Amino acid sequence: MQLLQDKIRTCGKVYPGNILKVDSFLNHQIDAELMLELGKEIARLYADERVTKVLTIEASGIAIAVMAAAQMRVPMLFAKKNHTKNLCDDVYRTTVTSFTHGVDYDVRVAKSFLHPNDRVLIVDDFLANGAALLGLADLVRQAGATLVGAAIAVEKGFQDGGAKVRAQGIRVESLAIVEEMNEDGIRFR
Ligand code: 5GP
Repeated sequence: MQLLQDKIRTCGKVYPGNILKVDSFLNHQIDAELMLELGKEIARLYADERVTKVLTIEASGIAIAVMAAAQMRVPMLFAKKNHTKNLCDDVYRTTVTSFTHGVDYDVRVAKSFLHPNDRVLIVDDFLANGAALLGLADLVRQAGATLVGAAIAVEKGFQDGGAKVRAQGIRVESLAIVEEMNEDGIRFR
């Protein structure tokens, strides 16, 4: 998606450890108009899939996911990372290894919000090693729901997450795929 590639080129910053910082429009301050365009594109890509729910993970996937869900006129559900009193005990739970922080953490969704008749689209900001996406896919599987695929804003094509997830037969649509990035710049696939 040209709009997203242009934004990454102008505002993204490459950090050591293969981290692309997009704090100015995606991960901290949010460019709401850009998110709306990403949401429209995701809705277009999955228009024929009769999606009933968009699922993401707390926190940075929420902005894109909510825009996609609004376009598709379905609810957006985000898996919670923190153990909160607001979440009942009747949950689906899985463990995810964080790429950016290098630690394992549990994510949960209430069973009451994910059903066997749901057709779920997973949305996230980044795809790196695939742990977040596969964790969300595991929650969908536990619920007995159908996973129609995933939509990712930025796939880092030089890491193995994309190949790993697609090898499981999961459809992955990435709006921008970074082929290579270093201090000299960013090259897209
Ligand atoms: P994965 O689980 O695929 O290894 O990593 C995906 C998660 O890690 C995303 O939800 C995202 O929050 C974070 N992440 C991975 N790579 C990057 C990156 O280069 N920049 C930022 N800002 N977040 C990343």
